[in-house]
Amino acid sequence: MTIACDRDRAADFFQMCDTGGGRSTAVQHTLSGLNGGHPLRLSIPALLLSFGFLASFFCSMQSPCFAADRTRVLDVPGGRILINFEGGKLDLSDEAVVSWVRDCAKAITSYYGKFPLRKTVVRIQTTSGSGVGFSTATADAEDNGLVEVPLGRHTTVDDLARDWILTHEMVHLNFPLVTDNRTWIAEGMATYVEPIARLQAGSVSSSEVWSEFARDIPQGLPERGDRGLDYTNTWERKYWGGALFFFIADLEIRSRTNNRRGLQDALAAIAAAGGHIGSRWTVEECFAVGDKATGVPVLQALYKEMRDKPVYVDLPKIFRSIGVERRDGQVAFRRDAPLAALRQAISSGSSTGFGANQTKSYARD
Ligand SMILES: [Zn+2]
Repeated sequence: MTIACDRDRAADFFQMCDTGGGRSTAVQHTLSGLNGGHPLRLSIPALLLSFGFLASFFCSMQSPCFAADRTRVLDVPGGRILINFEGGKLDLSDEAVVSWVRDCAKAITSYYGKFPLRKTVVRIQTTSGSGVGFSTATADAEDNGLVEVPLGRHTTVDDLARDWILTHEMVHLNFPLVTDNRTWIAEGMATYVEPIARLQAGSVSSSEVWSEFARDIPQGLPERGDRGLDYTNTWERKYWGGALFFFIADLEIRSRTNNRRGLQDALAAIAAAGGHIGSRWTVEECFAVGDKATGVPVLQALYKEMRDKPVYVDLPKIFRSIGVERRDGQVAFRRDAPLAALRQAISSGSSTGFGANQTKSYARD
């Protein structure tokens, strides 16, 4: 995938936003081959920086009056998205961009039942090159969402079809700011949910999603010297360690509820209770709401277990148990695996209130 995410620019942004040291989220994301940058939505410096553009943001929420070349309005279940085009012409038509934003929003409404915020501005900012660049998600004091997306002038429809970044940013809109700067929770959640949400919307296949999980979630396992998810601030633990947490939680919830509930129910409940990016909750509040929705205290218990010590998980065994086998970069499904039904339910969301009556052929094996 050709992208506009240039490493130097992403690194500069990170340094402006995060003075905490350590490895740069954006740089590591690029190095990983994951094609782009990331929002720094939980860091206080990032929030302070965001005030710099709130003036124009407020303006944009009232009317498309600031730097936007033009604005398109997209109504989705639960909210309205204003798509502001800024910074000059793209090779793509406006319709192609609107269609891409619509597909990403569909992933959100497929997974959560509705869009979390009444109003969201998506700022499409033309840059050089091609592809989706380092993007961010935040909210203003009135709980309006803002997603900023640099988009290369020469981006193609195929680039947009392969993009995961905008959906990832929209997933962030559905989760509160968690106190004490525990970025792994929001980033791990978004890393795990985004592919599943796109699968349920028909944008990617089961094979693509489970191949990615089998390849990349092992990056989140603890290494020598690990002090648990709350205290190990590496890129791998933040994104894939967080994704590992939510993957194990999902399987555990489904196992303990006889596949009647899943993480999807927990996250939808958190969003429905007002836990969006404009709110500020404790970890305990988040996971208590999620656990109440599923009826099993999995999130709270798993957090206590993994927060301050390394927890090793036999991922090859788990993937075998849910019928995911990966050979030569390809994934094959075994429907006779003992826990294959859990994987199928995660893919389709069929155990949730939202997906119960929606048999989605593209989310099947
Ligand atoms: Zn993120």
